Amino acid sequence: MYSSIDSFMERVTAKNPGEKEFHQAVYEVVESIWDFLQENPHYVHAKIMERIIEPERVLMFRVPWRNDRGEIEINRGYRVEFNSAIGPYKGGLRFHPSVNLSILKFLGFEQVFKNSLTTLPMGGGKGGSDFDPKGKSDNEVMTFCQSFMTELYRHVGPNTDIPAGDIGVGGREIGFLFGQYKRIRNEFTGILTGKGLNWGGSLIRPEATGYGAVYFAKEMLNTRGESFEGKTVAISGSGNVAQYANEKINQLGGKVVTLSDSNGSIYDPDGIDEEKLQFIMELKNVKRGRIKEYAEKYGCEYWENKRPWKAQVEVAIPSATQNEINKEEAQMLVDNGCVCVAEGANMPCEPEAIEVFHEKEILFGPGKAANAGGVAVSGLEMSQNSMRLGWSREEVDQKLHNIMKNIHDACVKQGTKGEYVNYVKGSNIAGFIKVADAMLDQGVV
Ligand code: NDP
Repeated sequence: MYSSIDSFMERVTAKNPGEKEFHQAVYEVVESIWDFLQENPHYVHAKIMERIIEPERVLMFRVPWRNDRGEIEINRGYRVEFNSAIGPYKGGLRFHPSVNLSILKFLGFEQVFKNSLTTLPMGGGKGGSDFDPKGKSDNEVMTFCQSFMTELYRHVGPNTDIPAGDIGVGGREIGFLFGQYKRIRNEFTGILTGKGLNWGGSLIRPEATGYGAVYFAKEMLNTRGESFEGKTVAISGSGNVAQYANEKINQLGGKVVTLSDSNGSIYDPDGIDEEKLQFIMELKNVKRGRIKEYAEKYGCEYWENKRPWKAQVEVAIPSATQNEINKEEAQMLVDNGCVCVAEGANMPCEPEAIEVFHEKEILFGPGKAANAGGVAVSGLEMSQNSMRLGWSREEVDQKLHNIMKNIHDACVKQGTKGEYVNYVKGSNIAGFIKVADAMLDQGVV
């Protein structure tokens, strides 16, 4: 039994030394559900919090491969199988040089709550490697993926663990991974989501996270009688989530004025319309170039090594990576008139930034609610694979829209105090209850 949040966190920090992103993710949850736990002591007595922060299994493995020059390279692979109380482990794979156990544990932990919020039967997991796909040839990426799957295949399965994409893992990588799994197991089963349409993928899966984040922001704005129509929006990143958030905002009448990558941001006050977005998609998904080339083509500002948050906008959708909005940037956004922030990425806002948003009572949608659309449609992909049929674009989009609306309603139900909805609290409590109750039902496991 812990007497305070601080004493609980001391134990977490001592047991998981150096894992600062994981500490941050645990703290955010514990802090927001602490009062709820005190009001529901059966969870405390059953030590659900102590159990839920401990991954069920952590796999770490060597990934040797040969580059185009014939040299051997060694990367490290991971799969964190965090919680399977409500379904098989489900969560993406991240290929990025920054990947380490702390980052994957934070992502896996968040995934448990996120997946619970979708109302679909999915547990939480996350994995990846410190492999950097940037600057690698298609052949090198394939060779790496094949080596990665040569170990991972024994740990995944359609009823065990079903990875998907994340940073650095898109359609190309999922294809190479799936091909190798099939070759080893001689089995065509839905062990990955985000697959190509011709081989078991779902319509709307590529769009789902970005579209979902915008649907969630739309619901938040709606609580204040507002909409995207005529609103100016800042998005960070220019990958999968950012691109489709941009597309959906355009469809809803908003104007996206920023995108970014790890080298800098572009600021286009005229808005990134459909035609310009096509250029971005070609640049990022096919040519694999830098965002700077957009500024050169369209003659707009390029902010070298800067994040986009100084832009004057009413809505912000951070969609690149963790900890990309700090306290000062949050303050700047609010001072410039931002009324709504929806996290397309996982944990992009530092805790002090979230405090600013809460103090100023602007609409703030945390990633585990706002970006749950991706995994939700992954869940729908799994259902279609099991049934061996495919739903239409409209059907999947409608289901995604409903799921985002339901997640929003759950957050409002659990997070409203007075007039203000604390979506962090709402999503954490709503996500927690379902998993915790399942854990209680299943005994001490
Ligand atoms: P992509 O790899 O498609 O795109 C990532 C984008 O973010 C790129 O523009 C990349 O720039 C930029 N970026 C990555 N790391 C950094 C960094 N350290 N600093 C600055 N910019 C960075 O990934 P996704 O769009 O899939 O994922 C983006 C975020 O959304 C992640 O937090 C992910 O966990 C989250 N998410 C993704 C889901 C999905 O379905 N894809 C589902 C739910 C959440 P560069 O090209 O220069 O590296």
